[in-house]
Amino acid sequence: MSAVKQLQFETSPGTIGTDVLLKNYKRYPINFVKGDGAYLYDSEGKKYLDFLSGIAVTGLGHCHPKVTEAAKNQLENFWHVSNLFQSSLQEELAEKLVSLSGLDNAFFCNSGTEANEAAIKFARKWGNGKSTIITAIGGFHGRTLGSLSATAQYKLWEGFSPLTPGFVYVPFNDVEAVEYSLNESIVGVMVEPIQGESGINVPDDNYLKELKELCVKHNLLLIVDEVQTGMGRTGKMFAHQWEDVKPDMITLAKGIANGLPLGAVICTKEIGDVMKPGSHGSTFGGNPVAVAAANAVVDLLTDDLLSRVYMMGEHIKKSLNHPSIIEVRGKGLLIGVEFEKNINAKAVASKLLDNGILAGTAGENVIRLLPPFIITDEEIGLFLDGFSSVLKRSD
Ligand code: PLP
Repeated sequence: MSAVKQLQFETSPGTIGTDVLLKNYKRYPINFVKGDGAYLYDSEGKKYLDFLSGIAVTGLGHCHPKVTEAAKNQLENFWHVSNLFQSSLQEELAEKLVSLSGLDNAFFCNSGTEANEAAIKFARKWGNGKSTIITAIGGFHGRTLGSLSATAQYKLWEGFSPLTPGFVYVPFNDVEAVEYSLNESIVGVMVEPIQGESGINVPDDNYLKELKELCVKHNLLLIVDEVQTGMGRTGKMFAHQWEDVKPDMITLAKGIANGLPLGAVICTKEIGDVMKPGSHGSTFGGNPVAVAAANAVVDLLTDDLLSRVYMMGEHIKKSLNHPSIIEVRGKGLLIGVEFEKNINAKAVASKLLDNGILAGTAGENVIRLLPPFIITDEEIGLFLDGFSSVLKRSD
């Protein structure tokens, strides 16, 4: 490293990386150095209230003592052995997820996109010749080629063709459109219970239930992508549990290990049984440290905490008022605030950040709020004050 670069690094940590990192993210020039509960601290010592949670990841807040302890203990035991050996840690987590979902088998990977890749493969294997999956326009299933091809958002495809064949796209929240698209190559339907990335789009009540009825009628699989909505985010362990429905497969990631990389697919025995040794795998999938953390996370997501997640979400939604707000929507602590064109959601997020509050954006002009489940009433008050003063200044 040259003397000049070295000096830049010492005097302005956080900006040197703009030269060496690939420019696939638009990064704020803020370098966080510590997290504690609902707060983050940057390299300048400034404190931030985190209403983003690493985009729905750190649901239990930063460095939750019980999750940290579980991960630390495992770090001191061993880090990795490979999926060639029995794993009581994975078995424990699988038992928990299976009993919470009413399904039968669990597979572990490292991320949401990998969970969806696995689900696509499992569905095709189960389909035994039927391979096409119906997905919803505006959905988001990940960035690797299979999941990207399942993601019906043209702007994310540009430059990456050819996509993987085997997907049909229909409008979200439209069961009839699914029915019209059926043909003998269709093996299943894959949707999010609430579309996260494209703007916190909440479907009508019973959307998943009606989809499941259609799937049962035509011997198709209902795959529910709970990567963003799962692990308590909406006030139920899994968002589909707001409806009386049991999907055939559920994909999970994000909040499952509170910040360590882990993804999962939970499925019926009928699907699980078609996968044989060697038919799918992952070197790091179900890493012991991440799984130890996830075991602690699941134990901490008690019914009491989940009801609080729901109640706090309702309270926040009711408290967000401004003439330029078109709609406040979402469930639990997955909240979208859509603005009229006179207010730019990205500018609001940026001003909130200047005021020490992290929030996200999604879809068309929507602020996405994803506070941690351990947020207190006082911290919600701080957020609401910050939000209304930023909006006042935008008037
Ligand atoms: N599925 C949904 C619903 C998501 O929101 C995301 C990420 O935002 C993914 C899949 C992809 O997850 P990952 O970024 O962990 O690959």
